[in-house]
Amino acid sequence: MENININWGKEPLTKGLSEKEALEKLKKHGFNELIKKNKKGPITIFAEQFKNLMTLVLIGAALISWFFGERADAITILAIIVLNSILGFIQEFKAERSIEALMELSAPGAKVVREGKLSHISAKYVVPGDLLLIEAGDRIPADGIVLECTGLMVDESLLTGESVPVEKKPRGSDRVFMGTISTSGKAKVVTYSTGMNTEMGKIANMLQEIPDEYTPLQRRLAQLGKYIVAICLIICAVVSITGIMRGEEPYNMLLTGISLAVAAIPEGLPAIVTVALAIGVQRMYKRNALVRKLPAVETLGSTTVICSDKTGTLTQNKMTVKKLYIGDKFIEPQKDRFPSSDAVKLFFTASAVCNDAFYEEKLMAEPESSGDPTELAILKAAWTAGIKKPNLDKEYKRIHEIPFDSDRKRMTVAVKRKNGESYVFVKGAVDIILGLCSKYYGPKGEQPMTYLDMKNILSANERMASSALRVLGAAYKKLDGSIDKNSLEKDLIFLGMTGMIDPPRPEAAKAVETCIMSGIRPVMITGDHKMTAAAIGKELGILTSESQILAGSELDKLSDKQLEKASGRIAVYARVSPKHKLRIVKALKASGHTVAMTGDGVNDAPAIKEADIGISMGITGTDVTKEASSMVLLDDNFSTIVAAVEEGRIIYDNIRKFIRYLLSCNIGEVLTMFLASLLYMPVPLIPIQILWVNLVTDGLPAMALGIDPPDNDIMRRRPRSKKEGIFSEGLGLKILMRGIAIGLGTLSVYALMLYLTYNDIQRARTCAFASLVLSQLSFVFECRSEHRSILKINPLTNIWLILAVLCSLGLLLMVIYVPFFHTIFDTVALRGIEWIIVVSMSLIWTIVSVFTTKKKRR
Ligand code: ATP
Repeated sequence: MENININWGKEPLTKGLSEKEALEKLKKHGFNELIKKNKKGPITIFAEQFKNLMTLVLIGAALISWFFGERADAITILAIIVLNSILGFIQEFKAERSIEALMELSAPGAKVVREGKLSHISAKYVVPGDLLLIEAGDRIPADGIVLECTGLMVDESLLTGESVPVEKKPRGSDRVFMGTISTSGKAKVVTYSTGMNTEMGKIANMLQEIPDEYTPLQRRLAQLGKYIVAICLIICAVVSITGIMRGEEPYNMLLTGISLAVAAIPEGLPAIVTVALAIGVQRMYKRNALVRKLPAVETLGSTTVICSDKTGTLTQNKMTVKKLYIGDKFIEPQKDRFPSSDAVKLFFTASAVCNDAFYEEKLMAEPESSGDPTELAILKAAWTAGIKKPNLDKEYKRIHEIPFDSDRKRMTVAVKRKNGESYVFVKGAVDIILGLCSKYYGPKGEQPMTYLDMKNILSANERMASSALRVLGAAYKKLDGSIDKNSLEKDLIFLGMTGMIDPPRPEAAKAVETCIMSGIRPVMITGDHKMTAAAIGKELGILTSESQILAGSELDKLSDKQLEKASGRIAVYARVSPKHKLRIVKALKASGHTVAMTGDGVNDAPAIKEADIGISMGITGTDVTKEASSMVLLDDNFSTIVAAVEEGRIIYDNIRKFIRYLLSCNIGEVLTMFLASLLYMPVPLIPIQILWVNLVTDGLPAMALGIDPPDNDIMRRRPRSKKEGIFSEGLGLKILMRGIAIGLGTLSVYALMLYLTYNDIQRARTCAFASLVLSQLSFVFECRSEHRSILKINPLTNIWLILAVLCSLGLLLMVIYVPFFHTIFDTVALRGIEWIIVVSMSLIWTIVSVFTTKKKRR
């Protein structure tokens, strides 16, 4: 039997390194991290802008122009390429950096002992010689030798491929390795190598290839892009060939075809989607939700059920002991102090020895405290009855322990007292502990426990639980020297129980209400007692007269099919363990839900992985759950999930907005050219004009739409279905119709001007160009909402859009009125009457939309 004394409430075993030593070692050995080889630098990102097909086509066009002696054309096209690339670079660089910075934040941490104090640092700063503490669910930050441990099991599959966890012993020879995961137990470890010198470092090159992660929407858009390219190329070929057949110059028609292809293909779309996602991720971070996997941003918007832990997420995790039940009676504190009778003292001794927290009151200073709130609450209450943790630590030495976990719902220690006596102390869920006891501490001291006694204790437990108290029992027995692990928890004597309050978070009830309003079902999943869970559930509005509560033991009796059917009604699951969580997620998914599920402990990882959105806790979560999750709640708070869902919906909405804008405009442009060629008209727009529209009118406003503030009904709609495509709810048709309208409008202006000016092509083209730009710029405001007319949206709420539109308008006027540009863009200055025609034609569809936009709610 290994001799352990791991009780790192306050006093870690030794002092560990000093900060000065650590700093020196850090300088010598470098950061404890694996060096990434394939990180994209700014130059690579810039160079990649030229790799895209459209840019290559444009470069080809510039070369052709140069070859044909059209130097001005060639230079303008080159300027457009450079501008386009710079824009693309800025977008991508910013998106990449901001996501990288966020990833840094979710980097694993380490618990080190330095200068005798336990501190949490980023794993990056661990140095050889550091003393590390490892607990269940930690990712081991560096290679080290196990000094002390209890029940330490390590999953080394990353190194060995062997998925069964390996047991470690503290013989000084067992080692743990960077990147592996402790699945249970605790240990103290001294580090011997870090960074690239670790076993993981040696094989790091093989692990470098982390593929880029694309969201389903990004993948679908890439697919769509391919179809659009194919269609566009055919159309462009038709336009060019019919032009040449009509006798237009081949050079002009070649360039027209190329420019049209460039304008028509929404090559900027994936980039804008990425930027919109990156901005969304940043906004979520500001609201305390750290997104780890980009696809989560999209899925969040279609969440229909949020399954949340209770303690710390819906409640504050600020526990205070309110009541005791010892010797068949309830005991409440008098003037904040519990009586110090023998029975109370014995109960508190058991609960405080079997406890990893630390609490010490000081004269003239704040109390010193650390550890789990439930355990801390017991120590505080014990102090008032004269049982002090620091004294107990000197008196009792831990020789064996089974740490608390949510499956066993109890913690057990075997201790040796200074006087040589040995004891077992257990604390945990009352219903579980009672099953291990044959005696109890009654009014007359230790006595056998009859069936009636047990019933009395259970009903006292329920009374406390139904007033929302969290109840923990304690039991003990004296050992006759040796420890037999098999009988350690048998024949115990039940000592009593504490009831503690854990008030709901003040913002939780409001967040639950928002959930319900937005068609999302909040579900509470807790390890706590059914009655406690019901009381809190009702207080928060999760459990109502229409919904039900189910206990883990009842859940065990249901088949998967039965659970799937029942899951529609159940709002609270109580006394569940992590394996139940997995079944609950599966049942909800099978009944068609998009499930968000929270978790913190190591055993929660499978359920989190299975959920559509796995959510881990930033403060109390283990490394393993964080890594399995797609989002981390930095404040462990339920309302943060609801905020993240809202952001998810906003982002999706905004993506729909600019897709609507960009595709409608592109269809308009292609159609103008295509119809003109079918009608044997001279080309309405020259290549440079098309490229200008593509860059100035399409790009800037679309980006501004990507950061549009939300529609005010965003959290009053039903969740979007996961299966729904981006063009659902008639968006595809709307895009098509508007594209046709823009195309016909532009063409009509062109034809009318040709007629009125007796074929002054230059003037007619300038009018068509202005008309195309204006109809797009007025349309962009319509794109801000699918359900409200343009008159109902305050334009001032998106200043960026106004700036983008003003900028485009300014550039349009410049091209039309500054003589220098006349030669490049083949434009002329327009007169008043021409503007009247252009403006009225461009605004006609916007006016029509005011009357036709249907107010519709999902
Ligand atoms: P959640 O609501 O987040 O699931 P919970 O606190 O309700 O959290 P668990 O932490 O799994 O659920 O606790 C389940 C039960 O185990 C509690 O009702 C309590 O009786 C017991 N328990 C909790 N913490 C400890 C502890 N530190 N030591 C012993 N028993 C504990």
